Amino acid sequence: MKITSSHDWRAGLAFDSPVLAADVLPGEPTRCAGCPADAAKHPRTELWAVKKRHPNDPAGLVRLYCAAHVPRVERAPAVAPRSPARSRRASAPRREPARRAPAAPERPKALCPDCFVEVPSSGVCGMCGQKVG
Ligand SMILES: [Zn+2]
Ligand SMILES: [Zn+2]
Repeated sequence: MKITSSHDWRAGLAFDSPVLAADVLPGEPTRCAGCPADAAKHPRTELWAVKKRHPNDPAGLVRLYCAAHVPRVERAPAVAPRSPARSRRASAPRREPARRAPAAPERPKALCPDCFVEVPSSGVCGMCGQKVG
């Protein structure tokens, strides 16, 4: 049986690799280490746990940061952090090919494709009775 101590979850973390705090250290909303002391607490789904090297503690020191203060790491974290805020960066809108507009801005009268006669406003061809347009 595996005994879970408070050290286990820290040992599983890589140094300087932010992980979602809710995953490794669930609990009450708490403060970001980078925010001012009077800042609001963040839910842990919006906080990142970052294990830093600590001179006196080989297990390291874990601090929690909000998305705005999570330290930028040089190398990509082993596990890509899922963004809790799900900041979907709007990719450049794909440029649709210009819609081919009909040459004539408005067609004054419809023509029956079969009879080539103007169709009255009723839309029914007077020759063949076909509904046009
Ligand atoms: Zn912060
Ligand atoms: Zn017709």
